Amino acid sequence: MQHTSSKGLATCAICGAGETQPGTFPMVVGVGRVCMNDGMAKVRCESCGTEVKLITSAKLQGRTLCLSDYMRELEKFRQHIVQAFDEKAEPAPKILERAYSEAPQGYTLLAVRRGRNSTHVWEAEYEKTEIFQMRCS
Ligand SMILES: [Zn+2]
Ligand SMILES: [Zn+2]
Repeated sequence: MQHTSSKGLATCAICGAGETQPGTFPMVVGVGRVCMNDGMAKVRCESCGTEVKLITSAKLQGRTLCLSDYMRELEKFRQHIVQAFDEKAEPAPKILERAYSEAPQGYTLLAVRRGRNSTHVWEAEYEKTEIFQMRCS
């Protein structure tokens, strides 16, 4: 039994047109699902000024951005990274050592702690080095 016939239909976030088949309207980050007409319309990136199609743009904090600027902006928000290590796979001292020596590039290790609800998973928390330094100076 299929129950998705009408429930899965999207409405264009710009002109309000309805989908005739589920899944045909592309998703634009920060905008919503849009019809192909609006999706093909040109928008200007507010960061680099390039004209791109709406479907290859994204909206972040009210600004229209091309995808590469969007990724760059997004990266700035990724200030924290948490990585999990499993004590079943390697002993705790090894995990501590690895958490420190294998920190993602540009990040500083803040803490290593036991994962919540787990007796064998450790979580290493990293912070963007530039933010870490800002906070510590
Ligand atoms: Zn539309
Ligand atoms: Zn751009």
